[in-house]
Amino acid sequence: MKALKVGDPGQVIWVEQDDPQFGPGEVLLQPLVCGVCASDIKAVRRGNRDANPWALGHELVGRIIATGDGAQNPIGQRVVAAPYVPCGTCYFCVHQQPTLCQHLFEQGLDPGGLAERVRIPRLLAERGLFPVPTLLPSEAAALAEPVACCVQAAEACGIAAGDTVLVVGDGPMGLLNAAVARAHGAALVIVAGLTPRRLELAAAHYADVIVHVEQENLAQRVKGLTDGRGADVVLAAVPSAEATLNGLGALRRGGAFNAFAGTAEGTTLPLDLRRLHYDEWRITGSFGVAPHHLRKALELLSSGHVDVSPLITGRFPFADAPLAVEHMAKQVGMKAVVMFESA
Ligand SMILES: [Zn+2]
Ligand SMILES: [Zn+2]
Repeated sequence: MKALKVGDPGQVIWVEQDDPQFGPGEVLLQPLVCGVCASDIKAVRRGNRDANPWALGHELVGRIIATGDGAQNPIGQRVVAAPYVPCGTCYFCVHQQPTLCQHLFEQGLDPGGLAERVRIPRLLAERGLFPVPTLLPSEAAALAEPVACCVQAAEACGIAAGDTVLVVGDGPMGLLNAAVARAHGAALVIVAGLTPRRLELAAAHYADVIVHVEQENLAQRVKGLTDGRGADVVLAAVPSAEATLNGLGALRRGGAFNAFAGTAEGTTLPLDLRRLHYDEWRITGSFGVAPHHLRKALELLSSGHVDVSPLITGRFPFADAPLAVEHMAKQVGMKAVVMFESA
């Protein structure tokens, strides 16, 4: 079978390999749709450092085509596959911090989502496969994982009905965060960014207000919309300290901030300690997904509370998967998905 993997820095390569062998409790998936994500692009830029690299892609919807002895998963079922699952027993899992699990990455999609067959290890088969509701298209379900990342962020900040939420960043994850904030009852969702066509998309589907940060003073604009208070929640969905600091300037007293985007090592922020103390800010960070976030994401998608269709700007057959990677890397559109023949 074929799998798309990371080659030299900036390169992807097709690898021809044997179909994965599956053992007791394991599941074999036939991929239907796999999303391409900013973290895949990061991996491509870094280049392969492994003798036996994993295939790209972790936003996977597939059909169960075979199961090992003892696996309870029904053959034929269409499922979202979690990219990893927490162990449930380590210090962090016991403290309800499943995405900090010490064993989080011990089991994953083998060889990855952009392959013709995918082996699902036992723990992942038991806890990380979620049936896709019948009426939900596979391409929407493929975005369950990024939506679930936003659910975790919304929970970390305690986004509540009536809140004003400022999302800094107009990329796919910024817009998904805006959509999830709305689904959590935010009354005013503001998206701040730099790219006119992305801000327009935000205004058309996900945001009540858009702010081009080079044309307007963000803090002033947000305060103007909130009786001078500022936003209840500020989410930083762009890996830039400068943009994040600009966003923090719009956070109200007692508000919550979330560092959503993964930033490069050494990215630091001059934080105003006096404001942190006297204004009782809550500073949070959130990374990745746990099973309950994926379940919630599928609910949001199938109920229509989060509509990802305007975000899917590129659909590529598996044979053209490198073009899907390019679509994301060059920011041609917003989100690219790879559709397999069986989809
Ligand atoms: Zn992703
Ligand atoms: Zn754990």
